[in-house]
Amino acid sequence: MDKGRLFVVSGPSGAGKGTICQKLVEDTNIELSVSMTTRNPRSFEKDGINYYFVTKEEFQKTIAEDGLLEYAEVYGNYYGTPKEMVMQKLNEGKDVILEIDIQGAMNVKQAYPKGVFIFILPPSMAELRKRITGRGSETEDAINMRLGETLKEVSYIDKYDYCVVNGELSEAVERVRAIVKAEHSRVSESILHLIKKYEEEI
Ligand code: 5GP
Repeated sequence: MDKGRLFVVSGPSGAGKGTICQKLVEDTNIELSVSMTTRNPRSFEKDGINYYFVTKEEFQKTIAEDGLLEYAEVYGNYYGTPKEMVMQKLNEGKDVILEIDIQGAMNVKQAYPKGVFIFILPPSMAELRKRITGRGSETEDAINMRLGETLKEVSYIDKYDYCVVNGELSEAVERVRAIVKAEHSRVSESILHLIKKYEEEI
């Protein structure tokens, strides 16, 4: 059986990557990986659904047990992708999507170069500020820190395979869906098996 594809989605905080990934899992068979983090849950977040919320000690124990595909420190908190669940799904032929920061994505690129790397951009910095402010969960200082980080993050864009500007959400989702479809049309091992069958059928 062909393996599933690993899609890695990153981009500046507030670019809308979370919403895009959510929409994608709603109407496709892609599974969204649930990350582990040491940050405190926001009011609407649920343990095991949005993240696995753990202590620093638990996080460090998971690293020591080689339980993470990648991890990174983002804005003073640790975030990581549980390895076993992702590898199991890929081996079962299911697609998996990781919504992770750029450092993490670069680590996945080393560990799993077959991954497909997608960068989500906001239409402008003004729109990005508006979106982050609208969340109401961040202080003014934290918002300014995130916007400053954005410029550094954008400089990694050439390490990605695709870039999608999230101006109109439905259009951005459509584009990511198209990328997923295109990746399934790549010439791969399973297609070569199919060609072999054609030869046998003649
Ligand atoms: P937030 O605190 O807003 O949920 O996420 C902050 C940043 O951490 C976002 O850029 C998000 O993509 C990233 N992030 C979430 N999960 C992971 C993960 O498992 N690994 C890494 N490297 N980054 C993550």
